[in-house]
Amino acid sequence: MQNKTEPVLSKTDSILSARGLWFSYNDEKPALSDINLDIPKGKKIVFLGPNGSGKSTLFLHLNGVNKPDKGEVYFEGETVRYDAKSLASLRSQVSLVFQNPDDQIFSATVEEDVAFGPMNSGVPHDEIERRVDEALGLVGLSEMRERPTQQLSFGQRKRVALAGALAMKPKVLVMDEPTAGLDPQMVHELLELADELNQSGTTVIISTHDVETAYEWADDILALHMGKLVFSGSPEKFFEQEDHLLHQMGLTPPLVLSLNRSLHQLAGTPLQPYPRSLAEATHKAFPLKGRKMGRLILRCVDEDVNISSPAPHERSGIYGTAARRLAQAGKLDVHYLFHALESGLMEAAGGQDFILYTDSSLLKLAEEKAKRLEKNAGVSVQIVHETH
Ligand code: ADP
Ligand code: MG
Repeated sequence: MQNKTEPVLSKTDSILSARGLWFSYNDEKPALSDINLDIPKGKKIVFLGPNGSGKSTLFLHLNGVNKPDKGEVYFEGETVRYDAKSLASLRSQVSLVFQNPDDQIFSATVEEDVAFGPMNSGVPHDEIERRVDEALGLVGLSEMRERPTQQLSFGQRKRVALAGALAMKPKVLVMDEPTAGLDPQMVHELLELADELNQSGTTVIISTHDVETAYEWADDILALHMGKLVFSGSPEKFFEQEDHLLHQMGLTPPLVLSLNRSLHQLAGTPLQPYPRSLAEATHKAFPLKGRKMGRLILRCVDEDVNISSPAPHERSGIYGTAARRLAQAGKLDVHYLFHALESGLMEAAGGQDFILYTDSSLLKLAEEKAKRLEKNAGVSVQIVHETH
């Protein structure tokens, strides 16, 4: 029989676990009740729950800021300990980005703030410089290095807080409501960056009450409701088979799934496979018959590459940090500056060739999403690889 205090998954499968975790802020109702969970290594995880369900409280347990009243947290199969040395080691591997950047940013300038974490954990000076450069580049704030943190907008402060976490080069990046309060472009850029980090091996965990983000982005969903973990599994399973639970939590299904259900009822299209994106839902409902399929041309870019912009009639977009930097530097003029992979798949499935300037780290994910479009909507877009 499974011993309740031991993680279920083996050390290699699960990077963070909790067993029988209870936590109260005061003598009232517990904020977390008997949480048992396993977070698989290398995945993209969403903790979904309405306000007050315990997401932030739980996240503060993942890097040892909160200590359980009862129960255990495990990192890579080892019980988390709360002495200063163990906590420093944990926090250099599990980086938490707070919901509110003002809870995280203390330094006078951007670069000082980003350097704070690595400096505290004894990273050598020139390595800190490199990390600050890289982290600011990833969040698109290289130009703001010397800016006083007081003079930044909310979105910029959120990015500084994220850069601070990235500068730790963590194995696990935990972001509490990272998309809250951001405009649509910033939301997509953030999720794309999270994809990029995930593709290079980082386990990424975010919290949100936004069902659209959760459904589009997550590999796995863990749902919290009134301090209890009420679901753990695939997004399709959660949103399609747990609608009673979803309603109890005060959430509504993602639009793509509502559309899928309506089309099933009104036009008799099969419910399954469940579409994960608008492109999948649309092309499942209206398959392109007798017309030529477009191609998705993945044009691989790297920083130092001399790249030419597409011709005005060619549909195009950027995907990933390197491509974004080229666009920001005015070296690349494209139609879609964000959410471009989805748009490209939509256009290619509709018969239009689309050029996607893609970071090499994201090529695999682009191919996976094209395969998913084939599986869920029966549309096989031709992928063309171009390198320079
Ligand atoms: P979420 O992040 O999902 O919105 P929280 O973890 O912030 O949820 O809150 C979970 C519960 O704990 C809520 O009932 C909230 O009121 C309570 N809570 C959160 N932070 C504190 C605190 N610092 N002191 C007392 N109660 C708190
Ligand atoms: Mg919260």
